Amino acid sequence: MDESMHKLVAMVMLLVLPSGMLAPSQAQAPAPSNVYDLIIIGSGMAGLGAAKRAKELGVAKILILEARDRIGGRTITQPLNITLPPNSPAPAAIDLGAAWIHRISGARGFNPMAKLANDSGSGYVTTTEAGLSFDPKGVEDTDQWDKTYEDMLARWEVYYGKYLNGNPKDTDSLQTVYDKFVQSAPWSTLQKATLLQALVTEIAMDYAADLSQLSGPWSQEDYNWGNGPDALPSRGYSTLVSYLATNQTIWTNYAVDFINYSNPALVDVRGRILKGTGQGSTFVLLAKGVINTMPLGYLQAQLAPATPTLFKPALATSQSAAIKAMGMGLLNKVILVWPNSSWWSGIITTPWLTIRNSTSLGSFSEYYNLAATGVKLPVLICFNAGSFAKSVESLSDAVIVSRALGPLQRLLPAGKTIPPPVQTIVTRWASDPWTYGSYSYNKVGVSYNTRSKAFAALGTLKRVGFAGEHTHLQFPSTAHGAYLSGVAEAERLAPLVK
Ligand SMILES: Cc1cc2nc3c(=O)[nH]c(=O)nc-3n(C[C@H](O)[C@H](O)[C@H](O)COP(=O)(O)OP(=O)(O)OC[C@H]3O[C@@H](n4cnc5c(N)ncnc54)[C@H](O)[C@@H]3O)c2cc1C
Repeated sequence: MDESMHKLVAMVMLLVLPSGMLAPSQAQAPAPSNVYDLIIIGSGMAGLGAAKRAKELGVAKILILEARDRIGGRTITQPLNITLPPNSPAPAAIDLGAAWIHRISGARGFNPMAKLANDSGSGYVTTTEAGLSFDPKGVEDTDQWDKTYEDMLARWEVYYGKYLNGNPKDTDSLQTVYDKFVQSAPWSTLQKATLLQALVTEIAMDYAADLSQLSGPWSQEDYNWGNGPDALPSRGYSTLVSYLATNQTIWTNYAVDFINYSNPALVDVRGRILKGTGQGSTFVLLAKGVINTMPLGYLQAQLAPATPTLFKPALATSQSAAIKAMGMGLLNKVILVWPNSSWWSGIITTPWLTIRNSTSLGSFSEYYNLAATGVKLPVLICFNAGSFAKSVESLSDAVIVSRALGPLQRLLPAGKTIPPPVQTIVTRWASDPWTYGSYSYNKVGVSYNTRSKAFAALGTLKRVGFAGEHTHLQFPSTAHGAYLSGVAEAERLAPLVK
């Protein structure tokens, strides 16, 4: 331990400061046990991935601080109030955040989430992209619609490829590119309508943002692991989270408010205890390295005031501007649960279902049918994304559920009504104060290196690093991207903190 570190250890004030009290008057004897090799902020996939890797690399004193009263962050599996038949392939539980493992294998090998699903005892079932689409009246789309849809999507890909090769402007949105495409030839009304529907369904919903919000040149990156099928962890993502958390020290209800990296030797991490023992108190900890996995939406909210207080020294203007320039997308789920899937068994036969909405594309129109997957749960999920999803978060659960049931009702013959669901769950990720959104996207205006500029490590010795889905250059927005970002930060910091 060098001289400056000795001094800092002697300065360690205490683990918990009662709220409002000044540190020096409450200072206790030096408490080396409150100095950590590595403090990880956040217990999502990034934080847990970082902790696992750091431990494997021999980092001894690792502490994970988590503001929520649970671990897992944007992965959370909730039990359902239904009894399934014996020998059902999966338990009655549903993921409110991440659900899919995107491409279990590919040229890069096995997706780390698929490996975790196996190691944790969850296992997984592979899924297909098979889907049905219906017009706004609930009539199945014609072959002509389907063929035009596929044809226009293929033409879009060619056009978009040329657009990318033609010096695209960072100020273009995907909507701008679509508008240019539409002007490029005398397309029929059907051709324009199918392409717009395709872009909303296949791109905007996936990236959790509107076409007008998504960057033209930087949106359609390959976020997938490879070419294998997607999969669902059979027991839900929380099984993977519990497995990763085994033998880690995690303090839940500990919210970090302040990260001071001005001393080159130790980082000072402070915050509040939100619930449980010590509720209302503040805490002060020191660490040789810190991995900050606070989600993008949370970081943006912290940086919004004229004089932000999260970091000391304050972030460089260019770094702060890059964080603010990124987009935090929104994908919400309306989860509809019945005791069994009999009412839709002859009608909705594929996993995916689109019931087009003639007035507002993509609103209460995309559904997923878990009964048609390997987990065989009697559950339909309605997805909303982007600014529409945000606009409905303020509505009551009852209104949101009824709007999600409306289009489904139109699929039934006249005189038949949908039995009421026995359980409904409505997510509101934009209102969640520990993320303010679902996952990051490249917002119109970003440039090639915005993401790497935004999440460069801090301090002369770079003792404070960033991890989380929003920091991963190849696989942002995903659980595996989050996990890999944590692993990479642990590998970078381990030699410095051991
Ligand atoms: C609805 C939805 C569907 C999704 N679907 C998929 C999918 O199918 N497949 C897929 O791969 N990905 C999916 N994702 C994305 C995936 O969930 C995320 O990319 C991933 O879980 C993010 O992990 P993370 O560790 O970066 O962040 P988080 O899981 O958000 O972890 C960060 C943690 O930091 C904590 N925290 C925040 N502020 C503080 C603070 N001040 N002090 C202490 N702790 C703090 C938070 O509470 C949180 O637990 C989905 C996300 C959502 C919301």
